[in-house]
Amino acid sequence: MSTPADTIVAAASPPGRGGIGIVRVSGPAVPVIAVALLGRLPEPRYAQHARFLAASGEALDEGLALYFPAPRSYTGEEVLELHGHGGPLLLERLVGRALELGARRAQPGEFTQRAYLNDKLDLAQAEAVADLIDAGSEAAARAALRSLQGEFSARVRMLDEALAQLRAHVEATIDFPTDEIDHLGDRALGLKLAEVRAQCAALQATAQQGRLLTEGLTVVIAGAPNAGKSTLLNRLAGHDAAIVSEIPGTTRDLLRERVQIEGVPILLLDTAGLRDSADSIETEGVRRARAAIAQADRVLFLVDAQADARASSFSAERARLPASVPVTLVYNKTDLLGSSAGRAPEFPGVITLSLSALRGTGIATLRAHLLESAGYQRADSGTLSARRRHLEALAATATRLAAAEAQCHEARAAELVAEELRNAQRALGEITGAGTADALLGRIFATFCIGK
Ligand code: GDP
Repeated sequence: MSTPADTIVAAASPPGRGGIGIVRVSGPAVPVIAVALLGRLPEPRYAQHARFLAASGEALDEGLALYFPAPRSYTGEEVLELHGHGGPLLLERLVGRALELGARRAQPGEFTQRAYLNDKLDLAQAEAVADLIDAGSEAAARAALRSLQGEFSARVRMLDEALAQLRAHVEATIDFPTDEIDHLGDRALGLKLAEVRAQCAALQATAQQGRLLTEGLTVVIAGAPNAGKSTLLNRLAGHDAAIVSEIPGTTRDLLRERVQIEGVPILLLDTAGLRDSADSIETEGVRRARAAIAQADRVLFLVDAQADARASSFSAERARLPASVPVTLVYNKTDLLGSSAGRAPEFPGVITLSLSALRGTGIATLRAHLLESAGYQRADSGTLSARRRHLEALAATATRLAAAEAQCHEARAAELVAEELRNAQRALGEITGAGTADALLGRIFATFCIGK
């Protein structure tokens, strides 16, 4: 791919004050900019002390300069790094000087985008760079680093290779006069197809783990007013994030809290009680609660085990919950039940748990349930970071493979099987960036920070 002709500049360290601030310049004008700014071109890949000069020859700051000639740099282009003092004004003066000398300000993620365009990284690795920077837990950081080092991409390439071989096998039969998959070849092909489908399924499972670590889960806590939603949110968060009160309808807006369970980030949403007869502010709260529920990975529907032992609040609400979102029925306030309390009713297809949000009993089981129900496997040492986008591409690949298998059994037309395999390969290619549309690339890199 071609190298962009312009030169970009941005502060590479976060905004604010710090011991050291770094400005990074990348592009063909780097040697000229270096000579003007430093008085000379630094020796490649050696940190050299220098004064950073204004046009007047006066020093703007002093620090270390690092020059990485193309193509052995992060972006694959000529790169200059200036490590000065970490003051926002100083950094902006250095950026301004580079602009004067012909650079332009970098867009978010543009350095990494150039690394991608120059084949330094594939798309999944570029995304892992952002995931590593954003990692909110040790486990997420480890997974992102593995993906950055190419482990995820290698698994994708292996699957791609298997698909390519399968295609070659099928396409070879197209040249035969009947154009049909014969009965003898059929069996071997069926076995190979099954193998590739299993490989795809294994990669889907790994990617699902990775997505959990990178993007986490959204869990909505729903239920009638006073069921103990805010108390449960506080219990899971470990501090008083929500106001707990005995007056029904206290939580009028959505409360958001980020917690971690074994490194998996979980966004908890405490919703306004789902009831109809309320004032306008509360009605708005209920509307937001319903919108949040529709997008959640799981709903915890809380029932007051003492006041609503038959879970009638759940029966009343159940039909209105979106069918696509899995629900766990949680009986709360079990501490109020005497030993003579009967068994709480269960509902077909709904997992039921009992706990006391106030006392904390049953909370460990709830935590484990949230991870397990999302398909998270513990003690997994080889997790790779992945995104929803990757899962969607793998799901599309799996669908095309299933279609290829169906064609194989039904039509036995090699052409049709080959066509599905081509589609499968195209879907898979989206992960590493082969044949990815510019619009998608733009969207991916736009979510990066500036200077990365
Ligand atoms: P929300 O309206 O669903 O958010 O309910 P709150 O969390 O505000 O709780 C309503 C009331 O129930 C408060 O007085 C809580 O202290 C109480 N409560 C919540 N959970 C429990 C529990 O597990 N046991 C007992 N005994 N009381 C609870």
